[in-house]
Amino acid sequence: MPARLPRPPCTLVHPAAADWHDAPGFALVDPATEATVGEIPVCDATTVEAAVRRAAALSRQLALGERGLDPLAILEALIGEIAARHDAFAEAIAREMGAPLDFSRDKQVGTALSHLRTILKAARESAAELATPPGQDSHFVRYEPLGVAALITPWNWPLNQVALKVGAALAAGCTMILKPSEHATRSALLFAECMEAAGAPEGLFALLPGDGTTGAALAAHPGVDVISFTGSTGVGRAIASAAGANLTPCLLELGGKSANILFADCDVPTAVAQGVAHCFRNAGQSCNAASRMLVAREIYQEVCARAAAEAETYRFDAPLKPGSHQGPLVNRAQFDHVQAVIRRAQAEGARLLTGGPGRADGKDIGFYPRPTVFADVTPAMALFHEEAFGPVLAITPFDSEAEAVALANESAYGLAGYIQTADRARAMRVARRLAVGMVQVNGRSRIEGAPFGGRKASGYGREAGLWGIRAFQAVKSISGI
Ligand code: NAD
Repeated sequence: MPARLPRPPCTLVHPAAADWHDAPGFALVDPATEATVGEIPVCDATTVEAAVRRAAALSRQLALGERGLDPLAILEALIGEIAARHDAFAEAIAREMGAPLDFSRDKQVGTALSHLRTILKAARESAAELATPPGQDSHFVRYEPLGVAALITPWNWPLNQVALKVGAALAAGCTMILKPSEHATRSALLFAECMEAAGAPEGLFALLPGDGTTGAALAAHPGVDVISFTGSTGVGRAIASAAGANLTPCLLELGGKSANILFADCDVPTAVAQGVAHCFRNAGQSCNAASRMLVAREIYQEVCARAAAEAETYRFDAPLKPGSHQGPLVNRAQFDHVQAVIRRAQAEGARLLTGGPGRADGKDIGFYPRPTVFADVTPAMALFHEEAFGPVLAITPFDSEAEAVALANESAYGLAGYIQTADRARAMRVARRLAVGMVQVNGRSRIEGAPFGGRKASGYGREAGLWGIRAFQAVKSISGI
């Protein structure tokens, strides 16, 4: 049996040292070698109960101003602690979920740090108490911490997703219990060490390693005051039900099948290169991946040829090797899912332009997929609707702007939309009609602190910047003072 990951000497990690080895375990598999490389403890309902009790006790003290804690000072120190461990985080992420080292360092860790800095800035610039304009009756609106926050995160952008939630909950003045993905426990343990080094006392933050059973016990606990979840739509529904039973406010960042609309007047070479890159980024394991490319009929053949050629330039290799290649998918289940998505698309008549089932060239072990592009994908096919969460691009032609919008919106999801056109008026017209939470035009990056989240089966609530902080706050009005 592989050894259990060592418990870091950190008071914020649970279960206690004595129980670390006795708790039931979850096996960790190296996505590059398929070897079982370790095990993590799975926290049970008793550990959840103890963590909620501690977090609730501190939350009450914070509300009464009894502890003299400065959450923003802790947040600032946290940023420094993560930055000091930048390379260690990159390596942990590469090992646990397969994102190559350079990408992990620049994007996975880099994005987490920039989100934290943006949250800190937003918190410092915003007021907790808003007064009425002069001349009116005295009236105040206060933003107050909701209390105990349950944070449940996935594995695909592990530090980034933890940072978005912890940064916002901390800035809001909440106490927190984090249940990270079982596939991303290494980076989470490192994160708990950073919290402790930043001055977070017991009760302010607790890390509970575990699987879905731990997450379910946490989400259903009546002592939790707010839940923030990122993950699959299926688990999101279960969490929303648990939250509903307790009337606990809940934020859900779920899956997506986002459309990238290429109009005939776009810069075709740039749009195709960026579109393929966006779909294949992080080996396709991003909720907001531009996985459906909707293409104006006039440029359809050219786009198909260019997308296939572009995909063929993508290389998959070991996560710990330096370079700009892609890494393996996170685990066997994800690899099998991607294979099933590809086979079903073939069976349903989508035209395979490149890639297909099987492992990437030169790989006979590891969860390395083949970069795959399908053309002539229609709404009658599962590939048009189903999230692959792998490097699988689906291309569909359209004949008019109205048809492009209708195709984009023909999805259970509503996370992101991408528009490529030289016509700004059209970009705005189409952006307004997309039933999504976020739109990006002509390959532009999202603005720091812009609200992140979706609609429909992509969930509800917004993260990042001040929007993220507000998700952890209650609004109180005080009149007549
Ligand atoms: P998942 O839903 O399987 O797991 C996410 C987390 O929930 C893990 O920590 C897991 O242990 C926990 N969990 C599992 N069952 C639970 C239950 N019944 N109750 C409470 N917690 C439970 O998702 P995943 O496989 O880790 O991540 C991939 C999915 O996440 C994809 O569908 C992707 O689109 C989505 N995602 C969305 C966003 C976004 O911001 N919208 C970002 C990243 C990932």
